Amino acid sequence: MTSVDFSKHKKAKALKPSSRRPAKELCSECGLCDTYYIHYVKEACAFINQQIDELEEQTHTRSRNLDNPDELYFGVHQEMMAARKTEPIPGAQWTGIVSTIAIEMLNRGMVEGVVCVQNTKEDRFQPMPIIARTPEEILAARVNKPTLSPNLSVLEQVEKSGMKRLLVIGVGCQIQALRAVEKKLGLEKLYVLGTPCVDNVNRAGLQKFLETTSKSPDTVVYYEFMQDFRVHFKHEDGSTETVPFFGLKTNQLKDVFAPSCMSCFDYVNSLADLVVGYMGAPFGWQWILVRNERGKEMLELVRDLIETQPVMSKGDRKAAVQQSIPAYDKGVTLPMWAAKLMGVVIEKIGPKGLEYARFSIDSHFTRNYLYVKRNHPQKLEEHVPEFAKRIVGQYKLPE
Ligand code: FAD
Ligand code: SF4
Repeated sequence: MTSVDFSKHKKAKALKPSSRRPAKELCSECGLCDTYYIHYVKEACAFINQQIDELEEQTHTRSRNLDNPDELYFGVHQEMMAARKTEPIPGAQWTGIVSTIAIEMLNRGMVEGVVCVQNTKEDRFQPMPIIARTPEEILAARVNKPTLSPNLSVLEQVEKSGMKRLLVIGVGCQIQALRAVEKKLGLEKLYVLGTPCVDNVNRAGLQKFLETTSKSPDTVVYYEFMQDFRVHFKHEDGSTETVPFFGLKTNQLKDVFAPSCMSCFDYVNSLADLVVGYMGAPFGWQWILVRNERGKEMLELVRDLIETQPVMSKGDRKAAVQQSIPAYDKGVTLPMWAAKLMGVVIEKIGPKGLEYARFSIDSHFTRNYLYVKRNHPQKLEEHVPEFAKRIVGQYKLPE
């Protein structure tokens, strides 16, 4: 990447926190509009100007090959694997591969700062984006804040600090806006470490989700929708509570997810250099996608700290996805005993590894396609990327 004379880029006044965002109800609070880079919002916002194709080309030198089944689903990549830290970081979301890579990059001087998100003192789920300059600050950002987080709100500080080498950790909508303004940031080197992301909520929505789903909402430390078709809640006392997906109170939870997340098709963070999630890996393992050479450089730093295995794929998701479409649409909730039984059966015979990832992508893309079609019909054609149209096209959707 060549350096840019950033004094020449255009600036506009950041919006006040209470002002309505240009993407209106579709805003994911990515943080761009909290900075003077709001000047570029019409081109940069993932919900105003979907441009994954062009940005894939800018970032990885080519857009995904839609005729390659793995690229159609998971985006441009050189390598995919399952991995876990041999010594997991206590309190990380999974085994802490994300935090470990960030710490190594800082310790080795590859970057001067890391954009990541801690939580406020008062509320463990209230996001507080920062530019970390020490390993301790990165560690304090470990674990998901399962809420919309304005990670890009610190971008003005990057430029003001004169930093030239930066790592940004973030989810798809944040990274799309970041890529669109990347050349204006005055950086010599930008690394992007992404996680997949789906079904995010605002802080009030999170409270509703916890209260309708967990037996003890106030003691939840973190949660994850796991590959065994259950939500796992970890509580303050170290205990784990599990609730089968099929037992979720869909009728009450229908409006809980943010409209931005109901209209997102970048589940797998297409524009990051390296993606670390879990859904394409066996239970207990993380899933890594190396998208380009920068991603490879980042992963090399932790090769000695992780064990890996090849990705696998088992089962057939298609019937389960097709059945779930009208069930979700009608807000069907099973009695808990039936949900538990269904969970046990599907865990035994259901999709595993990459097929589980495809199950999750298909279920969310079909749901989101219907949402956009019904709520923002004028956006449907432009907003849904070609790869998502092909994925959704495999299923029969209700009107
Ligand atoms: P850790 O070492 O614990 O680090 C987590 C990092 O995430 C921190 O650096 C922090 O800065 C960053 N972060 C935390 N919250 C946010 C946020 N709201 N926005 C941006 N960055 C944040 N993976 C899947 O495979 N499938 C999914 O469906 C899926 N859904 C997710 C939904 C959300 C809202 C988020 C934030 C992540 C999701 N992930 C998903 C990713 C997965 O849960 C883990 O974050 C990932 O595997 C990294 O785990 P770790 O132990 O290496 O991370
Ligand atoms: Fe602005 Fe980001 Fe909201 Fe789009 S999603 S309106 S860029 S804050």
